[in-house]
Amino acid sequence: MSLNSTRGANREWSADSKEGPGRPAVSGRGRFSLSQYLEGILAGDRSILAKAITLIESSHRADCELADEILETCLKQKNDSIVVGVSGVPGAGKSSLIEALGHHIITNREEKIAVLAIDPSSRISGGSILGDKTRMAFLASSDMAFIRPSPSRGTLGGVAAHTREAIVLCKAAGYRNVLIETVGVGQSETAVREMVDFLLLVTIAGAGDELQGMKRGVMEMADAVTVNKADGKNLREAEKARALAESALQFFSSSEPGWAPPAVVCSARTGRGVKEIWSLILEHHRIITQSGYLERIRREQNLCWFRENIERGLKQMFLSSPNVRQRSTELEKEVAAGEAAPIAAARLLLSLYDPKWLHRERED
Ligand code: GDP
Repeated sequence: MSLNSTRGANREWSADSKEGPGRPAVSGRGRFSLSQYLEGILAGDRSILAKAITLIESSHRADCELADEILETCLKQKNDSIVVGVSGVPGAGKSSLIEALGHHIITNREEKIAVLAIDPSSRISGGSILGDKTRMAFLASSDMAFIRPSPSRGTLGGVAAHTREAIVLCKAAGYRNVLIETVGVGQSETAVREMVDFLLLVTIAGAGDELQGMKRGVMEMADAVTVNKADGKNLREAEKARALAESALQFFSSSEPGWAPPAVVCSARTGRGVKEIWSLILEHHRIITQSGYLERIRREQNLCWFRENIERGLKQMFLSSPNVRQRSTELEKEVAAGEAAPIAAARLLLSLYDPKWLHRERED
């Protein structure tokens, strides 16, 4: 089903194709055929996987159509992957903890791990999570790991949409464990919650504010909270913060049958608690697989993905239409200056949309 997809119209940004170490940034355009991409991905070829993700981030129409076909085949692959979101305020130690978890997964469990990032904030800060590879030195040099930084530009919706698609490709490439790193700014947790099986909230014992970064809404979404940096002089404070987090978690009723989100301490630096966190995640996976909850949330996530695409596609189609484009800036100025009523102006702009424009454009 390559239905002259709305994916092209869906693009809110043009991706900066950043690749992991040793994986050159290559625009997917015209590089490989569908079968070359698919064979490469299914064989677990990291270089082709990286190029395929670049392709799905592309806004060129031909790329979008090819990307749709790749995704469709990849979506059909049966696998038993675990998708984990790792969230928390900057500096909490997410990258370091992912490195430590990755080390455990690769060395003790001999399984592959993919790390993806959702980083809408980089547009404002200019920085990028996962940008500093030194915190993931082991993973960056391991054949068993695939690291993909977030595109350096983009709205949350755009970045999140591509992350969902990248998860599908990583699963098809045989990555049993897919970790999604996200900055704890509230909104991105909501986005990540809708694409993972388990959300781990990473926090630290903060000066005076033990629940730093743990806004109610974020806590509510977590499947476990871990207080990182439980080492050295910080140990006691970390334990106190854990106890506080534990009592805070009791106020939220988990929607997942058989699971009460725990609060634990860990140290990405010393490795304390890392194995235990992964055991928790596996235990949770076992419980929700057996109860059928996993299947249910994955179905809901697909529905959510479908709806998001429709919404974004509609918005982009509307805003890209020539009639709308011509008048929108003008109308925005008039509304801002109080010269036009917001509702009437919006109605006027909506009435200017010509549904045939996309058709005409495609024929050109
Ligand atoms: P992120 O921004 O949440 O990804 O945090 P990072 O992983 O980049 O870590 C932020 C800082 O905290 C770095 O200087 C790390 O070396 C340090 N850090 C991370 N984990 C630990 C830990 O377990 N113990 C201590 N003492 N420092 C840590």
